[in-house]
Amino acid sequence: MGDVSTDRLPRLIPRIDEQRCTGCGSCQALCPTQAVQVVEGKAVIVRQEACTYCDVCETFCPEGAIGRPFVIVFASHASAD
Ligand code: SF4
Ligand code: SF4
Repeated sequence: MGDVSTDRLPRLIPRIDEQRCTGCGSCQALCPTQAVQVVEGKAVIVRQEACTYCDVCETFCPEGAIGRPFVIVFASHASAD
């Protein structure tokens, strides 16, 4: 099986759909690292470095407005032994 380096992948943060976000504050209240806050009525990732990419905000957002994007990496040198 080939090695897959993630060194050059961009740092991912949750995406917020501003159309869906009602500013209810659930994500802010539940985020274990205070990475997300409601700013002017919309959720914003205010501390990207603090986000641990857990699933709390995504799981508990009542509007389905916040979610974690994923990058699919294909190993290019998988051996067939
Ligand atoms: S829980 Fe969802 S709707 Fe509520 S503030 Fe966060 S992203 Fe917006
Ligand atoms: S993924 Fe986890 S750490 Fe990141 S903003 Fe959501 S609840 Fe906070």
